[in-house]
Amino acid sequence: MSERSSEDRLVGRLLGPAGPELSCEECFEQLDRYVELELAGADADAATPGMRAHLEGCSACAEDHESLRAWLATS
Ligand SMILES: [Zn+2]
Repeated sequence: MSERSSEDRLVGRLLGPAGPELSCEECFEQLDRYVELELAGADADAATPGMRAHLEGCSACAEDHESLRAWLATS
């Protein structure tokens, strides 16, 4: 079962949406900057290629993104 899902992920990465998709680790490293740019009204997607695609495909990182954004927006 785990073999199957890692194979699906690999295929998804090869055939997935245009642009490089980040790994969770890369996503995590760049999330701070991404959210700061987002909140500043800058083009966060252009500055952090692959981030949007990763957030759309990864619910764990999407959750991190939401909570970081909420936290930064109120502080
Ligand atoms: Zn992720």
